[in-house]
Amino acid sequence: TDFKSDKQPTWCPGCGDFGTMNGMMKALAETGNDPDNTFVVAGIGCSGKIGTYMHSYALHGVHGRALPVGIGVKLANPNLEVMVAGGDGDGYSIGAGHFVHAVRRNVDMSYVVMDNRIYGLTKGQASPTSRQDFETSTTPEGPQMPPVNPLALALASGATFIAQSFSSDAQRHAEIIQKAVEHDGFGFVNTYSPCVTFNDVDTYDYFRDSIVDLDEEDHDPHDREAAKQKILEGDKEYMGVIYQDDDSVPWEKREGIDQDMSDIPDGAPEDAMDLVREFY
Ligand code: SF4
Repeated sequence: TDFKSDKQPTWCPGCGDFGTMNGMMKALAETGNDPDNTFVVAGIGCSGKIGTYMHSYALHGVHGRALPVGIGVKLANPNLEVMVAGGDGDGYSIGAGHFVHAVRRNVDMSYVVMDNRIYGLTKGQASPTSRQDFETSTTPEGPQMPPVNPLALALASGATFIAQSFSSDAQRHAEIIQKAVEHDGFGFVNTYSPCVTFNDVDTYDYFRDSIVDLDEEDHDPHDREAAKQKILEGDKEYMGVIYQDDDSVPWEKREGIDQDMSDIPDGAPEDAMDLVREFY
């Protein structure tokens, strides 16, 4: 697609991040966006490299801080399509506080987390979503703590769009990300993106065998109570839109929010870049 840059990814062959990124590019194209109006923000980790591999405006930020930067970009220039990408280590550990508050604020943007349940870039330590008994170099007997449930965290924080996806299911993955992009508010998609090098438990085979597609269940994503039950079941790996509030109004469009953006021309990212530069 138009969103692919000419840089060759240095991800390990077979890494789930390839499929996650392909779906993001497809969803952006399907929703009528182009590289000139798209801004991708990433944190640190294997996922953090994505801005180099995508042809769009991009910023590779610091660990766990991609969301506030993305929010700043969007508020500085609401004409941009802002997509934030990150990993489970990046987003649910050091970035967990930002995640909660980004969800609450409900700015009109999307957040795709490549969840491989391990720290890949730093060579295989337990992450916030690692299983309790997952043995790694730093946790020889497993973390001995329950993993973070990012979907529950999002729901409890007042999310208006919660979905889960699988990088290997190209068509469904792109469809789910597309729905997140189209949502009026913060579209959150936790995406299973297997790490083929350091995680031999949460593999492609495991997810293929375990995933239950919500499209094949009688699930109504507009029913918050039903979403809550699915999320708290805990023993199933669901794929699809789990919750969506159709009455969502993005924070920046709420009455009383003073956002005078009248002097920003359509599609010009320079104002956003000026604001981002001020952060550093
Ligand atoms: Fe992907 Fe894991 Fe390799 Fe990182 S270390 S590029 S997450 S396979």
